[in-house]
Amino acid sequence: MTFNVAAIREQFPILKREVDGNPLVYLDNAASTQKPQCVIDALVDYYTRCNSNVHRGAHRLADEATKEFEAARDIVKNFINAPNREEVIWTSGTTESLNIIAHGLRETLSSDDEVIVTEMEHHANIVTWQEACRFAGATLKVVPVSDQGELDLDVFETLLSPKTKLVAFPHVSNVLGTVNPVKWLTQKAKEVGALVSIDGAQGVAHGGVDVQDIGCDFYSFSGHKIYAPMGIGVMWGKKDVLETWPVWQTGGEMISTVTLEKATWNTLPYRFEAGTPNVGDAIALGAAIKWFSEFDLKEVQAHERQLIAHATKCAEAFEGLTIIGNAKDKVGAISFVLDCGHPADIGFLLDRQGFAIRTGDHCAQPLMSRFDVPGTARVSFSIYNTLEEVDAFFNALKKVRMMLA
Ligand code: PMP
Repeated sequence: MTFNVAAIREQFPILKREVDGNPLVYLDNAASTQKPQCVIDALVDYYTRCNSNVHRGAHRLADEATKEFEAARDIVKNFINAPNREEVIWTSGTTESLNIIAHGLRETLSSDDEVIVTEMEHHANIVTWQEACRFAGATLKVVPVSDQGELDLDVFETLLSPKTKLVAFPHVSNVLGTVNPVKWLTQKAKEVGALVSIDGAQGVAHGGVDVQDIGCDFYSFSGHKIYAPMGIGVMWGKKDVLETWPVWQTGGEMISTVTLEKATWNTLPYRFEAGTPNVGDAIALGAAIKWFSEFDLKEVQAHERQLIAHATKCAEAFEGLTIIGNAKDKVGAISFVLDCGHPADIGFLLDRQGFAIRTGDHCAQPLMSRFDVPGTARVSFSIYNTLEEVDAFFNALKKVRMMLA
Protein backbone atom coordinates (compact mmCIF):
# COMPACT_ATOMS: atom_id res chain seq x y z
CA MET A 1 0.00 0.00 0.00
CA THR A 2 1.40 3.43 -0.85
CA PHE A 3 2.03 5.64 2.15
CA ASN A 4 -0.44 8.49 2.04
CA VAL A 5 -1.47 9.86 5.42
CA ALA A 6 -4.67 11.47 4.10
CA ALA A 7 -5.75 8.12 2.63
CA ILE A 8 -4.79 6.31 5.84
CA ARG A 9 -6.89 8.73 7.89
CA GLU A 10 -9.89 8.00 5.68
CA GLN A 11 -9.75 4.40 6.91
CA PHE A 12 -10.24 5.41 10.56
CA PRO A 13 -13.88 6.42 11.08
CA ILE A 14 -13.29 7.79 14.56
CA LEU A 15 -10.88 10.43 13.25
CA LYS A 16 -13.87 12.14 11.60
CA ARG A 17 -15.58 12.87 14.89
CA GLU A 18 -15.62 16.15 16.75
CA VAL A 19 -15.17 17.03 20.42
CA ASP A 20 -17.20 20.06 21.53
CA GLY A 21 -17.35 21.23 17.92
CA ASN A 22 -13.60 20.88 17.40
CA PRO A 23 -12.07 18.27 15.11
CA LEU A 24 -10.61 15.43 17.16
CA VAL A 25 -6.81 15.45 17.28
CA TYR A 26 -5.91 12.10 18.74
CA LEU A 27 -2.46 12.16 20.34
CA ASP A 28 -2.91 9.37 22.88
CA ASN A 29 -1.71 6.49 20.78
CA ALA A 30 0.69 5.09 23.37
CA ALA A 31 -2.36 4.41 25.54
CA SER A 32 -4.35 2.86 22.70
CA THR A 33 -4.46 3.28 18.95
CA GLN A 34 -7.61 3.76 16.91
CA LYS A 35 -8.91 1.01 14.63
CA PRO A 36 -9.11 1.08 10.83
CA GLN A 37 -12.40 0.08 9.21
CA CYS A 38 -10.96 -3.27 8.06
CA VAL A 39 -10.32 -4.26 11.70
CA ILE A 40 -13.83 -3.21 12.73
CA ASP A 41 -15.15 -5.17 9.73
CA ALA A 42 -13.15 -8.26 10.68
CA LEU A 43 -14.73 -8.21 14.12
CA VAL A 44 -18.25 -7.67 12.78
CA ASP A 45 -17.68 -10.33 10.12
CA TYR A 46 -16.62 -12.89 12.71
CA TYR A 47 -19.70 -12.26 14.86
CA THR A 48 -22.10 -12.16 11.89
CA ARG A 49 -20.70 -15.12 9.94
CA CYS A 50 -18.90 -17.71 12.03
CA ASN A 51 -19.07 -16.93 15.75
CA SER A 52 -18.57 -20.19 17.66
CA ASN A 53 -16.19 -21.93 19.99
CA VAL A 54 -12.93 -23.09 18.45
CA HIS A 55 -11.10 -26.41 18.23
CA ARG A 56 -13.81 -28.66 19.62
CA GLY A 57 -16.88 -28.09 17.49
CA ALA A 58 -18.14 -30.69 15.04
CA HIS A 59 -19.82 -28.14 12.81
CA ARG A 60 -19.05 -25.72 9.98
CA LEU A 61 -19.02 -22.55 12.07
CA ALA A 62 -16.56 -23.99 14.57
CA ASP A 63 -14.39 -25.19 11.73
CA GLU A 64 -14.32 -21.77 10.05
CA ALA A 65 -13.72 -19.93 13.34
CA THR A 66 -10.86 -22.29 14.20
CA LYS A 67 -9.22 -21.80 10.81
CA GLU A 68 -9.37 -18.01 11.10
CA PHE A 69 -8.24 -18.04 14.72
CA GLU A 70 -5.22 -20.20 13.90
CA ALA A 71 -4.51 -18.18 10.74
CA ALA A 72 -4.27 -15.08 12.95
CA ARG A 73 -1.64 -16.90 15.02
CA ASP A 74 0.36 -17.44 11.82
CA ILE A 75 0.07 -13.76 10.95
CA VAL A 76 1.55 -12.86 14.36
CA LYS A 77 4.27 -15.49 13.99
CA ASN A 78 5.36 -14.05 10.65
CA PHE A 79 5.10 -10.45 11.85
CA ILE A 80 7.56 -10.94 14.70
CA ASN A 81 9.52 -13.62 12.82
CA ALA A 82 8.95 -16.25 15.49
CA PRO A 83 10.50 -19.58 14.51
CA ASN A 84 7.46 -21.67 15.55
CA ARG A 85 3.72 -20.93 15.49
CA GLU A 86 3.15 -22.85 18.74
CA GLU A 87 5.32 -20.30 20.54
CA VAL A 88 2.70 -17.60 19.94
CA ILE A 89 0.39 -17.65 22.97
CA TRP A 90 -2.82 -15.61 22.99
CA THR A 91 -3.29 -13.54 26.12
CA SER A 92 -5.53 -10.65 27.13
CA GLY A 93 -2.65 -8.19 26.68
CA THR A 94 0.89 -7.32 27.71
CA THR A 95 0.01 -7.37 31.40
CA GLU A 96 -1.21 -10.94 31.29
CA SER A 97 1.73 -11.98 29.09
CA LEU A 98 4.22 -10.59 31.60
CA ASN A 99 2.36 -12.26 34.47
CA ILE A 100 2.57 -15.63 32.72
CA ILE A 101 6.32 -15.22 32.27
CA ALA A 102 6.88 -14.09 35.87
CA HIS A 103 4.70 -16.92 37.16
CA GLY A 104 6.79 -19.44 35.24
CA LEU A 105 10.08 -17.90 36.30
CA ARG A 106 9.28 -17.76 39.98
CA GLU A 107 9.10 -21.57 40.11
CA THR A 108 12.67 -21.76 38.88
CA LEU A 109 14.13 -18.97 41.08
CA SER A 110 16.05 -19.57 44.30
CA SER A 111 17.05 -17.12 47.00
CA ASP A 112 20.52 -16.68 45.45
CA ASP A 113 19.08 -15.57 42.13
CA GLU A 114 18.66 -12.09 40.71
CA VAL A 115 16.29 -10.48 38.24
CA ILE A 116 17.16 -7.22 36.51
CA VAL A 117 14.59 -4.62 35.44
CA THR A 118 14.96 -0.94 34.57
CA GLU A 119 13.90 2.34 36.10
CA MET A 120 11.74 3.09 33.06
CA GLU A 121 9.27 0.22 33.47
CA HIS A 122 5.52 0.37 33.16
CA HIS A 123 4.10 -1.06 36.41
CA ALA A 124 3.21 -4.23 34.49
CA ASN A 125 6.91 -4.91 34.04
CA ILE A 126 8.06 -4.16 37.56
CA VAL A 127 5.38 -5.31 40.00
CA THR A 128 5.31 -8.70 38.26
CA TRP A 129 9.04 -9.20 38.92
CA GLN A 130 8.84 -7.78 42.44
CA GLU A 131 6.23 -10.42 43.21
CA ALA A 132 8.19 -13.23 41.52
CA CYS A 133 11.30 -12.29 43.55
CA ARG A 134 9.30 -12.00 46.76
CA PHE A 135 7.83 -15.47 46.15
CA ALA A 136 11.27 -17.02 45.71
CA GLY A 137 13.28 -14.78 48.06
CA ALA A 138 15.32 -13.62 45.06
CA THR A 139 16.75 -10.12 44.54
CA LEU A 140 15.49 -7.48 42.11
CA LYS A 141 18.14 -5.16 40.62
CA VAL A 142 17.37 -2.00 38.70
CA VAL A 143 19.17 -0.34 35.77
CA PRO A 144 19.04 3.44 36.32
CA VAL A 145 17.89 5.97 33.73
CA SER A 146 20.05 8.99 32.79
CA ASP A 147 18.83 12.60 32.65
CA GLN A 148 18.54 12.09 28.89
CA GLY A 149 16.05 9.30 29.54
CA GLU A 150 18.37 6.52 28.41
CA LEU A 151 19.35 3.37 30.26
CA ASP A 152 22.73 3.54 31.99
CA LEU A 153 24.38 0.75 30.06
CA ASP A 154 27.58 0.83 32.13
CA VAL A 155 25.63 0.15 35.30
CA PHE A 156 23.66 -2.55 33.47
CA GLU A 157 26.89 -4.37 32.69
CA THR A 158 28.01 -4.21 36.32
CA LEU A 159 24.68 -5.68 37.50
CA LEU A 160 25.00 -8.76 35.31
CA SER A 161 26.46 -11.87 36.90
CA PRO A 162 25.95 -15.62 36.88
CA LYS A 163 23.26 -14.98 39.52
CA THR A 164 21.14 -13.11 36.95
CA LYS A 165 18.30 -15.40 35.93
CA LEU A 166 16.25 -12.99 33.87
CA VAL A 167 16.58 -9.50 32.46
CA ALA A 168 13.36 -7.58 31.69
CA PHE A 169 13.16 -4.27 29.85
CA PRO A 170 10.82 -2.34 27.57
CA HIS A 171 11.51 -2.17 23.84
CA VAL A 172 10.30 1.45 23.92
CA SER A 173 9.48 3.54 27.00
CA ASN A 174 5.78 4.43 27.16
CA VAL A 175 6.64 7.69 28.94
CA LEU A 176 9.82 8.93 27.29
CA GLY A 177 9.64 7.30 23.87
CA THR A 178 13.21 6.06 24.35
CA VAL A 179 14.06 3.17 22.04
CA ASN A 180 16.27 0.78 23.98
CA PRO A 181 19.16 -1.09 22.33
CA VAL A 182 17.31 -4.38 22.69
CA LYS A 183 19.73 -6.50 20.71
CA TRP A 184 22.76 -5.30 22.65
CA LEU A 185 20.99 -5.68 26.02
CA THR A 186 19.97 -9.21 25.03
CA GLN A 187 23.49 -10.17 23.95
CA LYS A 188 24.94 -8.95 27.25
CA ALA A 189 22.31 -10.85 29.27
CA LYS A 190 22.99 -13.97 27.25
CA GLU A 191 26.71 -13.75 28.08
CA VAL A 192 25.81 -14.55 31.70
CA GLY A 193 23.20 -17.13 30.72
CA ALA A 194 20.14 -15.07 31.70
CA LEU A 195 16.73 -15.27 30.10
CA VAL A 196 15.50 -12.09 28.40
CA SER A 197 11.90 -10.83 28.46
CA ILE A 198 11.03 -7.77 26.39
CA ASP A 199 7.95 -5.67 27.07
CA GLY A 200 6.99 -4.86 23.50
CA ALA A 201 3.79 -2.94 24.30
CA GLN A 202 5.21 0.25 22.78
CA GLY A 203 7.72 -1.32 20.42
CA VAL A 204 5.43 -3.49 18.35
CA ALA A 205 3.36 -0.71 16.76
CA HIS A 206 6.40 0.90 15.23
CA GLY A 207 7.22 -2.26 13.32
CA GLY A 208 10.32 -4.23 12.53
CA VAL A 209 10.24 -6.63 15.49
CA ASP A 210 12.32 -9.71 14.71
CA VAL A 211 12.54 -11.89 17.80
CA GLN A 212 15.12 -14.18 16.25
CA ASP A 213 17.37 -11.29 15.31
CA ILE A 214 17.02 -9.77 18.79
CA GLY A 215 17.75 -13.14 20.37
CA CYS A 216 15.37 -12.71 23.34
CA ASP A 217 13.41 -15.50 25.02
CA PHE A 218 10.10 -13.67 25.42
CA TYR A 219 8.40 -10.79 23.63
CA SER A 220 5.01 -9.51 24.82
CA PHE A 221 2.55 -7.05 23.36
CA SER A 222 -1.09 -5.88 23.37
CA GLY A 223 -3.32 -5.83 20.31
CA HIS A 224 -4.89 -2.50 21.16
CA LYS A 225 -1.58 -0.66 20.73
CA ILE A 226 -1.30 -1.90 17.15
CA TYR A 227 -4.70 -0.98 15.68
CA ALA A 228 -6.49 -4.09 17.02
CA PRO A 229 -9.18 -4.39 19.73
CA MET A 230 -8.57 -4.39 23.46
CA GLY A 231 -8.63 -7.68 25.33
CA ILE A 232 -6.22 -9.55 23.07
CA GLY A 233 -2.44 -9.76 23.25
CA VAL A 234 0.49 -12.02 22.64
CA MET A 235 3.15 -13.69 24.68
CA TRP A 236 5.81 -15.11 22.42
CA GLY A 237 8.22 -17.42 24.21
CA LYS A 238 10.87 -19.89 23.15
CA LYS A 239 9.50 -23.39 22.92
CA ASP A 240 12.28 -25.07 24.89
CA VAL A 241 11.68 -22.69 27.82
CA LEU A 242 7.87 -22.80 27.75
CA GLU A 243 7.76 -26.58 27.53
CA THR A 244 9.57 -26.93 30.84
CA TRP A 245 7.56 -24.25 32.66
CA PRO A 246 4.63 -24.81 34.98
CA VAL A 247 1.23 -24.12 33.51
CA TRP A 248 -0.45 -20.79 34.07
CA GLN A 249 -4.21 -21.14 34.40
CA THR A 250 -5.81 -24.56 34.49
CA GLY A 251 -9.09 -25.71 32.96
CA GLY A 252 -10.38 -26.70 29.57
CA GLU A 253 -8.22 -26.67 26.45
CA MET A 254 -4.88 -26.68 28.31
CA ILE A 255 -5.14 -30.35 29.30
CA SER A 256 -4.39 -33.55 27.46
CA THR A 257 -6.01 -36.09 29.83
CA VAL A 258 -7.93 -35.68 33.08
CA THR A 259 -8.83 -38.28 35.69
CA LEU A 260 -10.39 -37.59 39.06
CA GLU A 261 -6.91 -37.67 40.56
CA LYS A 262 -4.74 -35.77 38.10
CA ALA A 263 -4.29 -34.19 34.72
CA THR A 264 -1.66 -34.09 31.98
CA TRP A 265 -0.98 -31.02 29.91
CA ASN A 266 -1.67 -30.20 26.30
CA THR A 267 1.11 -29.24 23.89
CA LEU A 268 2.02 -25.63 23.09
CA PRO A 269 0.41 -23.19 22.53
CA TYR A 270 -2.76 -24.60 24.16
CA ARG A 271 -0.94 -25.52 27.35
CA PHE A 272 -0.96 -21.78 28.18
CA GLU A 273 -4.43 -21.06 26.79
CA ALA A 274 -6.92 -22.34 29.37
CA GLY A 275 -10.61 -21.81 28.70
CA THR A 276 -12.46 -20.34 25.75
CA PRO A 277 -10.13 -17.92 24.00
CA ASN A 278 -10.95 -14.46 22.72
CA VAL A 279 -11.53 -15.67 19.16
CA GLY A 280 -13.05 -12.56 17.58
CA ASP A 281 -10.39 -10.21 18.88
CA ALA A 282 -7.59 -12.59 17.88
CA ILE A 283 -8.96 -12.64 14.34
CA ALA A 284 -9.22 -8.84 14.40
CA LEU A 285 -5.60 -8.63 15.62
CA GLY A 286 -4.62 -10.74 12.64
CA ALA A 287 -6.51 -8.30 10.39
CA ALA A 288 -4.78 -5.32 12.04
CA ILE A 289 -1.31 -6.77 11.57
CA LYS A 290 -2.09 -7.76 7.99
CA TRP A 291 -3.25 -4.21 7.32
CA PHE A 292 -0.19 -2.67 9.00
CA SER A 293 2.19 -5.04 7.21
CA GLU A 294 0.98 -3.87 3.84
CA PHE A 295 2.79 -0.56 4.31
CA ASP A 296 6.46 -0.12 3.57
CA LEU A 297 7.94 -0.19 7.06
CA LYS A 298 10.65 2.30 6.12
CA GLU A 299 8.00 4.82 5.08
CA VAL A 300 6.01 4.30 8.28
CA GLN A 301 9.11 4.75 10.41
CA ALA A 302 10.25 7.82 8.45
CA HIS A 303 6.81 9.38 8.95
CA GLU A 304 6.76 8.66 12.68
CA ARG A 305 10.29 9.95 13.14
CA GLN A 306 9.39 13.12 11.26
CA LEU A 307 6.46 13.66 13.63
CA ILE A 308 8.57 13.23 16.73
CA ALA A 309 11.42 15.38 15.38
CA HIS A 310 9.00 18.18 14.55
CA ALA A 311 7.21 17.91 17.90
CA THR A 312 10.56 17.96 19.73
CA LYS A 313 11.60 21.10 17.86
CA CYS A 314 8.31 22.83 18.71
CA ALA A 315 8.55 21.69 22.34
CA GLU A 316 12.13 22.94 22.70
CA ALA A 317 11.05 26.36 21.44
CA PHE A 318 7.98 26.52 23.69
CA GLU A 319 8.22 28.94 26.60
CA GLY A 320 8.16 27.32 30.04
CA LEU A 321 8.12 23.74 28.71
CA THR A 322 10.54 21.04 29.85
CA ILE A 323 10.79 17.81 27.93
CA ILE A 324 11.26 14.84 30.22
CA GLY A 325 13.94 12.64 28.77
CA ASN A 326 15.47 13.55 25.46
CA ALA A 327 17.04 10.34 24.24
CA LYS A 328 18.91 10.17 20.94
CA ASP A 329 16.69 7.38 19.67
CA LYS A 330 13.01 8.12 20.31
CA VAL A 331 9.76 6.98 18.80
CA GLY A 332 6.09 7.44 19.52
CA ALA A 333 5.95 9.64 22.60
CA ILE A 334 7.11 12.89 24.16
CA SER A 335 6.51 13.71 27.81
CA PHE A 336 6.70 17.22 29.16
CA VAL A 337 5.80 19.54 32.02
CA LEU A 338 4.89 23.22 31.89
CA ASP A 339 6.03 25.77 34.45
CA CYS A 340 2.51 27.20 34.82
CA GLY A 341 0.23 24.28 35.58
CA HIS A 342 -0.31 20.70 36.63
CA PRO A 343 -0.40 18.11 33.81
CA ALA A 344 -4.01 17.25 34.70
CA ASP A 345 -5.07 20.88 34.06
CA ILE A 346 -3.15 20.93 30.80
CA GLY A 347 -4.93 17.75 29.66
CA PHE A 348 -8.33 19.13 30.67
CA LEU A 349 -7.85 22.41 28.82
CA LEU A 350 -6.54 20.65 25.72
CA ASP A 351 -9.51 18.31 25.71
CA ARG A 352 -11.81 21.34 25.55
CA GLN A 353 -10.10 22.18 22.25
CA GLY A 354 -10.40 18.65 20.83
CA PHE A 355 -6.90 17.38 21.66
CA ALA A 356 -6.68 13.95 23.27
CA ILE A 357 -3.47 13.47 25.22
CA ARG A 358 -2.55 11.51 28.34
CA THR A 359 -1.55 13.04 31.66
CA GLY A 360 -0.46 11.53 34.95
CA ASP A 361 2.15 8.99 35.95
CA HIS A 362 1.56 6.71 32.94
CA CYS A 363 1.75 3.63 35.19
CA ALA A 364 5.41 4.44 35.74
CA GLN A 365 5.66 5.90 39.24
CA PRO A 366 9.35 4.98 39.73
CA LEU A 367 10.19 6.94 36.58
CA MET A 368 8.20 9.94 37.84
CA SER A 369 10.25 9.82 41.05
CA ARG A 370 13.46 9.58 39.00
CA PHE A 371 12.59 12.84 37.23
CA ASP A 372 11.08 14.34 40.37
CA VAL A 373 7.73 15.15 38.77
CA PRO A 374 4.23 14.22 39.98
CA GLY A 375 3.27 13.35 36.44
CA THR A 376 3.73 14.56 32.88
CA ALA A 377 1.67 15.49 29.86
CA ARG A 378 2.34 13.02 27.07
CA VAL A 379 1.67 13.34 23.36
CA SER A 380 2.04 10.14 21.41
CA PHE A 381 1.90 9.60 17.68
CA SER A 382 0.76 7.00 15.27
CA ILE A 383 0.68 6.28 11.55
CA TYR A 384 -2.31 8.61 10.99
CA ASN A 385 -1.00 11.74 12.72
CA THR A 386 0.16 14.71 10.67
CA LEU A 387 2.65 17.56 10.99
CA GLU A 388 -0.35 19.92 10.86
CA GLU A 389 -1.76 18.23 13.95
CA VAL A 390 1.55 18.76 15.73
CA ASP A 391 1.46 22.47 14.84
CA ALA A 392 -2.18 22.71 15.90
CA PHE A 393 -1.28 21.02 19.19
CA PHE A 394 1.37 23.60 20.07
CA ASN A 395 -1.00 26.44 19.13
CA ALA A 396 -3.59 24.93 21.48
CA LEU A 397 -0.92 24.57 24.15
CA LYS A 398 -0.14 28.28 23.80
CA LYS A 399 -3.78 29.04 24.65
CA VAL A 400 -3.53 26.69 27.62
CA ARG A 401 -0.43 28.53 28.79
CA MET A 402 -2.23 31.86 28.55
CA MET A 403 -5.16 30.48 30.54
CA LEU A 404 -2.92 29.06 33.27
CA ALA A 405 -0.24 31.74 33.50
N1 PMP B 1 4.06 -1.99 29.14
C1 PMP B 1 4.06 -0.82 28.52
C2 PMP B 1 5.37 -0.21 28.12
C3 PMP B 1 2.87 -0.18 28.23
O1 PMP B 1 2.87 0.99 27.61
C4 PMP B 1 1.65 -0.80 28.61
C5 PMP B 1 0.31 -0.13 28.34
N2 PMP B 1 0.26 1.22 28.66
C6 PMP B 1 1.71 -2.04 29.25
C7 PMP B 1 2.93 -2.61 29.50
C8 PMP B 1 0.46 -2.76 29.68
O2 PMP B 1 -0.33 -3.06 28.56
P1 PMP B 1 -1.84 -3.55 28.75
O3 PMP B 1 -2.48 -2.57 29.69
O4 PMP B 1 -2.41 -3.50 27.37
O5 PMP B 1 -1.78 -4.93 29.32
